[in-house]
Amino acid sequence: MTNGSAAQTPALERHHVIIVGAGFGGLGAGIKLSAKGIDDFVILDRGDEVGGTSRENTYPGVEADIPAVHYSYGHQPNARWSSAFAPGGELFAYAREVADRLELRQKIRFGTEVVSAAYDEDAREWTVEAADGSRFVARFVISCHGALSIPSRPEIPGIDDFEGKMMATQRWDHSYSVAGKRVAVIGTGASALQVIPTIAPETAHLTVYQRTPIWVMPKVNFAIPGALQKVFETVPLSQRIVRSIVSSTTAVAETVAVTHNKRLPYVTKAVAELAKAYLRSQVKDPELREKLTPTYGFGCKRPSMSNTYFSAFERDDVTLETAGIERITPTGIRTVDGNEVELDTIVLATGFKIFGLSYRIAGVGGTDLETQWDAERMASYEGVAVPGFPNFFLAPGPYGVIGFSWFDTIEICVSHAVDMIAKADADGVTRIEADADATAKFVKKMRKRVEHTVFMSPSCNNSNTYYLNKHGDAPYLRPETIVETQFAMRSASKGYVLS
Ligand code: NAP
Repeated sequence: MTNGSAAQTPALERHHVIIVGAGFGGLGAGIKLSAKGIDDFVILDRGDEVGGTSRENTYPGVEADIPAVHYSYGHQPNARWSSAFAPGGELFAYAREVADRLELRQKIRFGTEVVSAAYDEDAREWTVEAADGSRFVARFVISCHGALSIPSRPEIPGIDDFEGKMMATQRWDHSYSVAGKRVAVIGTGASALQVIPTIAPETAHLTVYQRTPIWVMPKVNFAIPGALQKVFETVPLSQRIVRSIVSSTTAVAETVAVTHNKRLPYVTKAVAELAKAYLRSQVKDPELREKLTPTYGFGCKRPSMSNTYFSAFERDDVTLETAGIERITPTGIRTVDGNEVELDTIVLATGFKIFGLSYRIAGVGGTDLETQWDAERMASYEGVAVPGFPNFFLAPGPYGVIGFSWFDTIEICVSHAVDMIAKADADGVTRIEADADATAKFVKKMRKRVEHTVFMSPSCNNSNTYYLNKHGDAPYLRPETIVETQFAMRSASKGYVLS
């Protein structure tokens, strides 16, 4: 709750619904609310534009690794994707276009960094406070703060002492040129995979600090010819058919490789062999190849695709460093073997705090959601709601990420949240809370299913995967098919207490 006086709090807005975040999740929630005729909502975002992760990730080479027809809203097709996998700039443009097309901008308060949301049991309302002291009060909150919104700054000794240029992939400084510079990239995840080959031709020397190698498959990317774009535009059904084929294929891939890995372990083993064959075709030096070969199972952490990553290490001006980093010095990086590399620039490609909440969420009795999850293991009802946090929906919460494409997750979580708000309104009730027993049942089912996923396979022991948290839980993905989830959502309203 706020503690400032009226004179200190510049603004107070009241709405029926507050949406946190104007990324694809928040925009999706706005679209669904409007479609249900719920127009009294506001979208809060700390940035100065829509697009969330697509706005912030502008590093060289940024590109989706999910096909564009699937990595977009099903209800807002874009016929003009230039290639099978959309470049980051096109995703950002798509977000802006959707916001304009659906007239969502008037609903958005940019430059509004949410710092807290607190539930008032007497009023049955949430008060959301921003960093500038402005406050927003609403009956309902849909939190679309995103899974990839808080950059993870590595705890490497000396990180604050570096006197050269340091930047994170999520905060790329385009006014700075890496051309002719001695550059280090720390990390070899999906972002590094794209940055490394893109900047390598420009830098004087590039040193890549790898802690855990990533599984990489070739990327079957191609330009979408203008004629095909025209077909998609004039016959939208054609793009919907392509989308269905892509989404069905990825759904099957996820089901066999991730969700049912325990029953079908040979699938990921076979894919790993294919990935190794690809690596062999790209890297001739056996020592280098060995360093780039993961020692954990395929799928334990997010694999990615690239046609240029491996070959970048064949360059004379690129070094792969696998000795652990001892410390960052004012002038470079020293590894545990005593080797020190002098640097002008350090790029942190060290990812995100995947499970982090970007603001404090206080439910009934002031209970802090992150503290509760930390102490009691992460839990939710249907990946969206949490007992003790009435009228509050996470899109997504624990066990809420469905399928390969973030847009599947948004579609399912946001639709459910909006349906429940509409139901509360229609029933004339002002409080809707996930039932504790229904939540326990859902979580039990999810944890049982997680036992069958690749994350629980012994092959993941040395993967350092962010899918597993400190409790040994893998609460990120909902280990079900999209069809199963859609089916479950049809009766999910039964798991709420309305009053
Ligand atoms: P990430 O996958 O979490 O990779 C972070 C990398 O930094 C890992 O290699 C990690 O090593 C390393 N690292 C972290 N802390 C370190 C430390 N203290 N010392 C040395 N190395 C350290 O992050 P990301 O590459 O930004 O990708 C995050 C997610 O964004 C992806 O999983 C994907 O979902 C999404 N993404 C998608 C695309 C796309 O094409 N759609 C592109 C980029 C990102 P360990 O593995 O040992 O922890």
